[in-house]
Amino acid sequence: MAISAAGSLEAFGWTEAWATTFARDAGLGHVPARVIAEDRGSYQLVARSGELRGAVSGRFRFEADEDPSRFPAVGDWVAVEAGLVDETVIHGVVARRTALVRQAAGPRTRAQVVAANVDVVFVVASLNADLNVRRLERYLAAAWESGAEPVVVLTKTDLRTAAEIDAALVLVGGVAAGATLLAVSAVDGRGIDALAARIGLGRTSAFVGSSGVGKSTLLNRLAGSEIAATSEVREDDARGRHTTRRRELHLVPNVGLILDTPGMRELALWDGDGLERSFVDIDALIAECRFGNCSHGGEPGCAIAAALGDGRLDVDRYASWRKLLRETAHQERRVDAVARATERRKWKQIGKSVSRHMDAKYGADGWR
Ligand code: GDP
Ligand code: ZN
Repeated sequence: MAISAAGSLEAFGWTEAWATTFARDAGLGHVPARVIAEDRGSYQLVARSGELRGAVSGRFRFEADEDPSRFPAVGDWVAVEAGLVDETVIHGVVARRTALVRQAAGPRTRAQVVAANVDVVFVVASLNADLNVRRLERYLAAAWESGAEPVVVLTKTDLRTAAEIDAALVLVGGVAAGATLLAVSAVDGRGIDALAARIGLGRTSAFVGSSGVGKSTLLNRLAGSEIAATSEVREDDARGRHTTRRRELHLVPNVGLILDTPGMRELALWDGDGLERSFVDIDALIAECRFGNCSHGGEPGCAIAAALGDGRLDVDRYASWRKLLRETAHQERRVDAVARATERRKWKQIGKSVSRHMDAKYGADGWR
């Protein structure tokens, strides 16, 4: 199978810089491939030779130690066995530049990467209903946290007057410092070209935002077709049956790459790193508080209290920041607890094997 519409690995984002990162893997005789879809441990890949399917090697599985964030994710560059045609073996994941992360399902607190190596994250909100800036802040923080460039997209401008759109842009500008704002309509085409221009050949984009804001409509409009309906990956399963699955990384000619995974929409903050970028105004104020450990709860010389007092800082925005901070702090404490427990388990295991070794050598009572 050759890469049909794609033409080259470069169209999928491969660059000189990736080649440099890949040098060690290349030295081991492996070739690069990008993950375009994933289904319960089976990965759809695109390599220079074309599309093929892959699964991680036994050694990889062992070394990943059940940590879901170490397994390949859609968008990842992976090192695969060279010379194989339909099916290959994944030996490693190339260090990610960016990662959109959520908490893995299940009782254990673990990070799961829902999309890797995304260059630009479109944070989509609709001008239709009441614009929820609090929700926007949440998505923006997650976007910053991923390491990708966030772009806020306000949709459905066709339903609003020019004055209403301007007011919304001002409102959103107040919470989205550092991010580009775009106003678009899938109905009359406003802003669609500007949106496409933010992606570009070989660059990977992703869309996040609440349900109903118009993400699917935008994807289809950019692609010029129903992406979901036309982009199924056809393959044979273990028993030789044909199965089809939704492709998750789309190569759109003249636009670039669009990554759309099922987990994308439940995007949540993983740690607090995105908050500083998302709330630069609050960060700057905190730096002005008289005390370094100011809790902003009435201490003298508190810059937060002063800004809340004279209206420079919006009360709701401050509350939103506190809430996100609490959530991520909670998350971090849980991650720490899990890490400590894992560490304890490891040492217990080592202790046990040392005991067994010593028992064998000196007898159970001889050395204890
Ligand atoms: P998603 O859940 O974010 O993927 O949202 P959809 O793309 O499914 O869109 C939700 C609804 O909004 C659908 O009924 C769309 O037809 C409508 N919609 C999407 N974009 C626009 C737009 O630019 N203008 C108007 N008027 N409606 C839109
Ligand atoms: Zn303070």
